[in-house]
Amino acid sequence: MGNSNRRSFLRNLAATGAAMGLAPWSVRNMVHAAEDNLEPACQPLSEANHEAFIAPVKGMATMVSTWNHGIEANAAGFLALTQGGTAMDMIEAGARVVEADATGLSVGIGGLPDRDGHVTLDACCMDHTGNAGAVCFVQGVLHPLSLARKVMEDTPHVMLAGAGAEQFAREIGVDRIELLTDVSRRAWETWRQTSNYAPVINIENHDTIGLLALDDEGRIAGGCTTSGLAYKMHGRVGDSPIIGAGLFVDPDIGGATATGLGEAVMKTVGSFLVVELMRQGQSPQQACEEAVHRIMCRMPTQDLQVGYLALSTSAETGGHAIHEGFNYALTNHAGASLIDATFG
Ligand code: ASP
Repeated sequence: MGNSNRRSFLRNLAATGAAMGLAPWSVRNMVHAAEDNLEPACQPLSEANHEAFIAPVKGMATMVSTWNHGIEANAAGFLALTQGGTAMDMIEAGARVVEADATGLSVGIGGLPDRDGHVTLDACCMDHTGNAGAVCFVQGVLHPLSLARKVMEDTPHVMLAGAGAEQFAREIGVDRIELLTDVSRRAWETWRQTSNYAPVINIENHDTIGLLALDDEGRIAGGCTTSGLAYKMHGRVGDSPIIGAGLFVDPDIGGATATGLGEAVMKTVGSFLVVELMRQGQSPQQACEEAVHRIMCRMPTQDLQVGYLALSTSAETGGHAIHEGFNYALTNHAGASLIDATFG
């Protein structure tokens, strides 16, 4: 079957399933089953190919972002959308609000430093074509997610680290800024008095912002930005800038992002796992639950928290965490709400 016939066959099948009132993941399964009987589908990702899968429902713009600060982030994302922005613009706009908020202790300026007093930031993004960019262990940059987007769009690479990322920032005109505030410095000094220079692992100390957005054209994108684990070892990089761990977007299926102890997420390639489970037919909620259970089966979790958040290209959402306490903001054209994730 030729590419365009194949595309219209799959699109018609998806439309039939939707008209029959089947759940989006059932429709997706039906389409994938039909696909198995077609020639192997290894087409490059493109706008046309994107439409060939489960056709995203246009006009269903949705944004989900981790934690309370997700409300402001999503509002900025929807503002970008109304100004003509794409899903990737929604992500960047949302991230910038939280990165610039000096009162937040876990993202951008004001983020708690490592155990030596340095604020080191990690961020990544993926757009609706599956393109990806990331920066890690970067200092003195107010908007690491914007820098990650520049890596994605303007370099042949996916990730720049440390001094190299900072050099790239200077080359593109990003000014250096002091990220340690009076508040975060005082918190670090207090921590040093009793810490024995040991990084903290607990279930509360995690507020990374992970963002997923679907625009009205059905394009999906994601981002993740953080100052990482408070009082971590100098040089430590967590899951947040790692494509597949802190964030993954499959343009045909959906996206997922993680918050919590990065080491646990990295060891299970968590966000990729969530999206891959969605590809196999699970709903975003089911996929988040299974990815959390994967961690719970592999390691003791009484002292560690991980939360996953997912969004499909048909605007379904899900979120699940190891412990109580994880929440996320959900915004669409009907309004915004803060949702307590299920857990356990
Ligand atoms: N996932 C982040 C990290 O491990 C921490 C967080 O979510 O706050 O760096």
